[in-house]
Amino acid sequence: MKDKFSLKGKTALITGAAKGIGRHVALTLNEAGANVSICDIDESGLKDTFDKLNGDNLYLKTDLSEVTEISALIDKTIEKFGKIDILVNNAGIYKPCSFTDISLELFESLYKVNLRAVFLLMKKSLPYMIENKWGRIINIASISGKVGRKFNGAYAPSKHGVLGLTRVASAEYADKGITVNAICPGVVDTQIVQDTKKDSAELYGLNENEMYDATVNTIPIKRLINPQEVADLALFLAGESSSAITGQAYNVCGGMIQY
Ligand code: NAD
Repeated sequence: MKDKFSLKGKTALITGAAKGIGRHVALTLNEAGANVSICDIDESGLKDTFDKLNGDNLYLKTDLSEVTEISALIDKTIEKFGKIDILVNNAGIYKPCSFTDISLELFESLYKVNLRAVFLLMKKSLPYMIENKWGRIINIASISGKVGRKFNGAYAPSKHGVLGLTRVASAEYADKGITVNAICPGVVDTQIVQDTKKDSAELYGLNENEMYDATVNTIPIKRLINPQEVADLALFLAGESSSAITGQAYNVCGGMIQY
């Protein structure tokens, strides 16, 4: 049974691996046997993740809002491993804001990390997957890639865009042994949620405790998602067992949405 999920001999590039979902994905794919190349803008968290890995791996401090740093990330990964089998586009930023208060700067900062970097990393990784007639792309989007919730005017368009990239690339490369899927988390217990809870509470006119209770009440399983629950789906989508699954966007949201 264990072999079914083995990633031995595979190279996986995972973005935003300093903490949260990305760290869990990196450790899980590595535990399944993959060599991982991990990046993040947060170098100390990245180093902490790296120190927990086994085998031959790579970490690269990278600001994904910079196009040149994305190119360097791909080049250094190829220099070390000679291939990219699995790409997990996980890094992301979130900032709730009422629509008319969204500055161009805010809109563009979310666009650059949440969408443009995903496009560039897919574009630059796909040639290596095509060459090897095998590849897995897993984009961590959001349920905000499917619905338009209040105060998500900068975030939701970036995540809707990720689903667009996922669907188009899946159609173009389905006959090349490459699958492209998205995972759409609901509310996951990570730093991004901690960092924005004050802003969210203010926007809804609640205090932070009331905001937390109101959030949990919208989740049918009545709790936040654990980042490992997202990583476990990523493991399945990264492996051989999922080779007939492409162009899909799976929710890990405790039942918050049903489509
Ligand atoms: P997190 O804040 O714990 O992790 C995100 C990581 O991305 C951080 O380590 C951060 O340093 C990194 N990052 C941010 N900007 C970067 C940049 N310019 N270059 C490189 N790295 C950068 O949050 P998380 O919850 O683990 O988020 C992971 C993904 O899941 C994101 O794409 C997020 O949008 C998505 N998501 C999260 C939730 C949630 O509730 N936590 C819900 C839906 C979707």
